[in-house]
Amino acid sequence: MKRSKLSTEAYIKGVLSGDRIVLSRAITLCESHKPEDVSQAEEVLTAIMPHTGNAIRIGITGVPGVGKSTFIEAFGELVTQKNKTLAVLTIDPSSQKTRGSILGDKTRMEELSRNPNAFIRPSASGSALGGVSSKTRSVMLLCEAAGFDVIFIETVGVGQSETLVHGMVDFFLLLMLAGAGDELQGIKKGIMEMADAVVINKADGDNKSAAKRAKVDYQNALHLFPKDESGWSPKVNLCSALEKTGLEEVWGMILKQQDHVKQSGFFQMNRQRQQINWLKENVSELLETAFYQNNEIQSVLEGIVQKVEKGELPAMNAANLLMRKFLDKK
Ligand code: GDP
Repeated sequence: MKRSKLSTEAYIKGVLSGDRIVLSRAITLCESHKPEDVSQAEEVLTAIMPHTGNAIRIGITGVPGVGKSTFIEAFGELVTQKNKTLAVLTIDPSSQKTRGSILGDKTRMEELSRNPNAFIRPSASGSALGGVSSKTRSVMLLCEAAGFDVIFIETVGVGQSETLVHGMVDFFLLLMLAGAGDELQGIKKGIMEMADAVVINKADGDNKSAAKRAKVDYQNALHLFPKDESGWSPKVNLCSALEKTGLEEVWGMILKQQDHVKQSGFFQMNRQRQQINWLKENVSELLETAFYQNNEIQSVLEGIVQKVEKGELPAMNAANLLMRKFLDKK
């Protein structure tokens, strides 16, 4: 059954009053690609803008199996016990080949999903990563307008999505395991470099002493990186998401970092910069879409691609040629 559409005012009122059902529907609206939805979503976002920006935005990443969902359940529980409301958003770069979801199954974070102070929302899967990232920012703003104090954005630690998440949060937390080499963990140096904290999970049972050794190794490794612009030196913590230990320290550390960056002025500057980057990302995305949907381009693209493929036309020339066609300067 198709639900009747809400009016723009109903979306705005519902979101601002923290109505979860309306919030969910507003998120769906913002994720939609239909032109009429896009313009309604724009109106809703414009109206809620003054009510956004008040949450602590935390990015959480780590390779599959590191314990992200277990950590988010346990850490999320702790955050809500501190009288904070929490929204958990996930960016799941669905496999382009299989269209399968990496974060996937619906049973993840079952406990947290029953917590009245938590709200969990997976990203719309199947779209291009850039699109997902842009939409996630809108979803984050909607959640802030709905009054959530803390936002977790979860992503799989395997590549490009980390850079995108790092570009929309105030704190970037990297979950790691002891005993597995970095290569094994699939974590690129660049991701380590973005982290405000490395949290070594599964520091329990037989794994405890290995975790302590790994802590020293990571601390040494982090010292080798150039100092972060924010002036914050990344920390290494141990925790067990399963036994719920070390989580209080992680929360304390995040609050400390927040104090630090707010006092130094980095917080505000970073948020402003993130907004500008969001604008630029959107412009690139819109341009690319317009380019490939352009009739003129569509009629010549295949022939030009073939010429490039056969080595008859340098790629650079091909790109210039296409651009001239797009801009109508033949
Ligand atoms: P994700 O793929 O990163 O979301 O990882 P999961 O949260 O699904 O965890 C993967 C596996 O590691 C599951 O079997 C968890 O029970 C286990 N696990 C997660 N956290 C811990 C921990 O702190 N200690 C131990 N021993 N196992 C854990």
